[in-house]
Amino acid sequence: MFALVAGIYIHIPFCRKACYYCNFHFSTSFQIREEMIQAMLKEISLQAAYLKNQSIETIYFGGGTPSALPTENLQQLLEEVKTNFKVIGDAEVTLEANPDDITVESLKQWKEIGINRLSIGIQAFQDELLTNWNRSHSSAQGLSAIALAQEAGFGNITADLIYGGPGLTDEDWLSNIQRLVDSDIPHISSYALTVEPNTVLAHQIKKGTSSEPDDELANHQYEILQAKLKEAGFIQYEVSNFAKPGMESKHNKNYWTGAHYLGIGPSAHSFDGVSRQWNIANNVKYIKALESGEIPFEKEELTKTQQFNELVMTGLRTSMGIDAQRIAILGESYTSYLKSEIQYHMDQGKIVINAEGNYSLKPAYYFFADGIASDLFFVEAAPETDLS
Ligand code: SF4
Repeated sequence: MFALVAGIYIHIPFCRKACYYCNFHFSTSFQIREEMIQAMLKEISLQAAYLKNQSIETIYFGGGTPSALPTENLQQLLEEVKTNFKVIGDAEVTLEANPDDITVESLKQWKEIGINRLSIGIQAFQDELLTNWNRSHSSAQGLSAIALAQEAGFGNITADLIYGGPGLTDEDWLSNIQRLVDSDIPHISSYALTVEPNTVLAHQIKKGTSSEPDDELANHQYEILQAKLKEAGFIQYEVSNFAKPGMESKHNKNYWTGAHYLGIGPSAHSFDGVSRQWNIANNVKYIKALESGEIPFEKEELTKTQQFNELVMTGLRTSMGIDAQRIAILGESYTSYLKSEIQYHMDQGKIVINAEGNYSLKPAYYFFADGIASDLFFVEAAPETDLS
């Protein structure tokens, strides 16, 4: 069903260190932090009409490393959002936090300004791996971060883990999962190590100083993850996301169900139901443009084909499945196309019709979700001309 709520994503483009595998937009220099905050405050006020008075159910500080900002800056941004948008009383307010930023004092301050969900970037509990990836924290900091957050009263916590990378044995992997299960947090996200272009990791592989992640190993460790978390009472609601019942990320779920969202900050994306837009991924240019009252972004209107392909992609990645009602709105011919193309995967037992009447991928095939989705895409230049 269509969501009537909207979300705001705030991209903080600074990190203390550059992780070798990461291709997100960030800078390790904090010199222009104050100018950046001023520019982002301005963007929030200039975008006050973007979500057309919809209620804001979720606010998400991502990055980058939002926890590396002084709390005062986070508070300024939150206040500006509340001044310009209709934020509901019990909005989910998430802060991505790295373990080395988590202290008794920072937790107290975050709680005071209204952060009520923490996403902790643990990634692994092996110091050698963390060093190889150039992470800014140690394994011990990872463990104490979760305990400190719980002691400070944060119940809604998620942590990230990486699998499939060179040097991560199955034994390490099992113990990493077990540590999170034992810590009693209600949500876990886990991603395969991937080699993105122009990263240090890509360069190391080219030079031969690091080996390439092995797909088979990644698939095997993904199966371990699914089995262990199921046994521990987690529900897999998306390819990379697992939650105890009722503890799913509202922010991410809204993305997947077509809710509108506004992205603030360099490289942030926004969606208003009809078009997508994305801000320039350059800190200095972003600040300069905002100083002269302009938001530097590019925009595209989504064609029916793009909407169809996105619905297929997100649908197969989530337990909700491909939203039949939203496909139907695109036109009967899209429904018939999907029905005929998907039959092959249904015959193979990979896709079923779920309780909501949507096509959904069986969890055993989630690892291959993107490949199966791309089999179902329209590839014609302008198929809606022929189909509508
Ligand atoms: S802390 Fe996060 S955003 Fe920053 S470099 Fe590492 S993975 Fe990328």
